[in-house]
Amino acid sequence: MTTPIASPLYGKTVSSSLGKVLMIVGTRPEAIKMAPVARALAEIPGLQPLLCVTGQQRQMLDQVLDMFQWTPDFDLDLMHTHQSLTDVTTRVMQGVSKVLSETQPAAVVVQGDTATTLAAALAAFNARIPVAHVEAGLRSGDVQNPFPEEAYRRMVTELATWHFPPTEQAHQHLLRSGIPPNRVFLTGNTVVDAMHHMLRSPACCTPPQIANVDWDRHIVVMATAHRRENWTRMEEICDGLRRVAVLDPSIRIIFPVHPNRVIRDVVYRELQDIPGIALLEPQTYPEFLACLSRTRLVLTDSGGVQEEATSLGKPLVILREATERPEVLSCGLGVLAGTDPSAIAAAAEAWLKRQPPRTHGNVFGDGYAAKRIAQVIAEALLPNQSRLEERSSLSDITEAQTVKA
Ligand code: UDP
Repeated sequence: MTTPIASPLYGKTVSSSLGKVLMIVGTRPEAIKMAPVARALAEIPGLQPLLCVTGQQRQMLDQVLDMFQWTPDFDLDLMHTHQSLTDVTTRVMQGVSKVLSETQPAAVVVQGDTATTLAAALAAFNARIPVAHVEAGLRSGDVQNPFPEEAYRRMVTELATWHFPPTEQAHQHLLRSGIPPNRVFLTGNTVVDAMHHMLRSPACCTPPQIANVDWDRHIVVMATAHRRENWTRMEEICDGLRRVAVLDPSIRIIFPVHPNRVIRDVVYRELQDIPGIALLEPQTYPEFLACLSRTRLVLTDSGGVQEEATSLGKPLVILREATERPEVLSCGLGVLAGTDPSAIAAAAEAWLKRQPPRTHGNVFGDGYAAKRIAQVIAEALLPNQSRLEERSSLSDITEAQTVKA
């Protein structure tokens, strides 16, 4: 059963399906990166963004929707305990297909590379509804790593009509895979737009209160880990964090622990009583950014956190063997350490002994990605006169701010 709900902030009624754009979101990072797109679409006369959430991640998704005051129009509420990828993709396809036939949108927007992204794109493709893919073209070159995301985003590339790569490298991957250039739009990553919006909120202006952490005196290190390919390596990662914690008596590691039991059980067993390590519940997005913007070093396997830390000029130890975000490495802020405990400690120690390089501009975008995406969708869906107003607001973006194609 789909549950229609009123959407006060973003919702507006458009009489025909011509301007209806259905945004489909399942997890925390998808919601963070799609909220700016919904806002930008809602600003265009004649477009009506609708939100369908699958609830692939429940608690963390709802936390983000609250922070952006974004209310779902359809909530499939699909999360079950011990759900397999096949369970999720099957249920998302069935649920989304129903919403598509109820709403008859003119386009569907998906983001990234989750089971929700792939299943929603396939449901739309089957219904012959064009798909816009936000954060398209990321490639690690290895379908097992990250699993299943690398394969999922490749398949979404085949299904999508409009592709929005965040960086020049992602843009090139799409062109090399044969996507016609007039379907590919280099925009920057919408996570930068989301960060800019949130960093202005009062919650980001003061240092968060965390037991035993003095932001003025301590060397604060942020850690996150959750990737599926690291589920069997959590003990190694925890060992690495213990070694980092003893590098200096003033180090404090703050670690918001992912709610997935596979991760949580190991992390609490291994790190609960370690001095210098604070295990936290998942933080709200502004709380998380408030911490991230004040940390000295970041240890993570997360995609979004790599982008945000880089955007904030923070040095990173990446807890993966490969990254589909090579810009983090090439701008000099990221080091790939994998999950070997001594490699993690050595990389962290090296960063704590030197200043991170100063970067020129943000390799992930300028904060206007969502506006560019909305403009492309509007140009495809609406008659010319509906776009005039939006064009004038976009002309405020200077040449220097646009991401070079
Ligand atoms: N994040 C958050 N609270 C936390 C940890 C992370 O809001 O306690 C945000 C973070 O700022 C980033 C996103 O969650 O935007 C990353 O999500 P995740 O690491 O779950 O997924 P990935 O980016 O690896 O797909």
